[in-house]
Amino acid sequence: MGASLQTEDVPQAAVDRTACRSRGAHTELWPIRYKPLPDELLSSWLVRLAHGHGLKVQTFCNLIFGNRRQVWNRDIDRLAPDWLVEALALHTGTPIEIARRTTLKVFEGTLYPHFHPSGTLLWIQTMKVYHRQCEGLGQQYCPACLSADTVPYFRKTWRVSLKTFCLQHGCYLLDRCHACRAPVAFHRVDMDRGETEAAALARCHRCGEDLSNGPRCPPRIWDEEAFTALSRIIGALDSATLGEQTPLSPSTLAVLRHLGAMLLGRRRKLCLRAYLSELFAVAEPKVDSRKRPVIESQGIEMRHTVLAWSAWLLCSPTERIEKAIAARAVQFNHFLRDLDDPPQWYLDCIQQNAGVRRRESRGFGGETERRS
Ligand SMILES: [Zn+2]
Ligand SMILES: [Zn+2]
Repeated sequence: MGASLQTEDVPQAAVDRTACRSRGAHTELWPIRYKPLPDELLSSWLVRLAHGHGLKVQTFCNLIFGNRRQVWNRDIDRLAPDWLVEALALHTGTPIEIARRTTLKVFEGTLYPHFHPSGTLLWIQTMKVYHRQCEGLGQQYCPACLSADTVPYFRKTWRVSLKTFCLQHGCYLLDRCHACRAPVAFHRVDMDRGETEAAALARCHRCGEDLSNGPRCPPRIWDEEAFTALSRIIGALDSATLGEQTPLSPSTLAVLRHLGAMLLGRRRKLCLRAYLSELFAVAEPKVDSRKRPVIESQGIEMRHTVLAWSAWLLCSPTERIEKAIAARAVQFNHFLRDLDDPPQWYLDCIQQNAGVRRRESRGFGGETERRS
């Protein structure tokens, strides 16, 4: 590890803000020792610490870790190296277990069964870090939360695909700057705009707009029961990130995700999206063919629709899946294809529908058939 940050490295104004002066003293503690805020991401904590010292993030990281250890060429919230987490814990006097809970590994056993560093991590939005630039829409935020924060910061649950709205404020999360549409990259604010004050974290790195001014739109409710189910899942996620026991299980969430993938899919004889669009009397949402047809690659509107429709199917699964199969929107084997270790209740439901055969001139597609 590089040298500890010394008092003389830090601008005097920042040193003056410290509660405990340590000039000249041999201590491993940094002058500024912010602790992680509730549900705070490692990256957000690191940027706050750098700015608290009056330093740009890159300068701060170079001082702590040296030039050879690159921090920002990866999704550090997912791929948090031990040396980084341990350094922040040590120099801020934070217990290591609390520091470790700032990474996305905290959702192991809740959102996904086992953590893995590469490939899609179930329910974690992809960042697509390339040359320190984030090209994906992986970092969401609630403008009302940022506005209400004494010190704005970014949450772990804002990286989770199934969280499309904030329960506390009843509004959609946003996944890009409302002014210039740039993805959120708060670690670049001081790089691109030279700002290091606490409020800088909530500014768009590209245009400087205050992200807390973003629109606060209520989430669309397709069906009350399905919306309540989604709200409960998001509530359980909010509890899980704080270390509380929740009923969330990876296998049940995997079913929700699987139905989402079917709705996004482009397979032959798979018209579930068109079927549900007709059922909800809306135009069929267009899936961007440049993106992988998985929930973690989608923007917020598509995710919200796909999750709400999947939740609707699961509110009365036996009956609704039977109708979808009977309407030829999907074949029953699609419900199990590529789904590892489904829960028994779901297997039972699909097995019951195994005998459902095509029913002519009924439901989805029936109109077309009758005309031909
Ligand atoms: Zn909020
Ligand atoms: Zn912007």
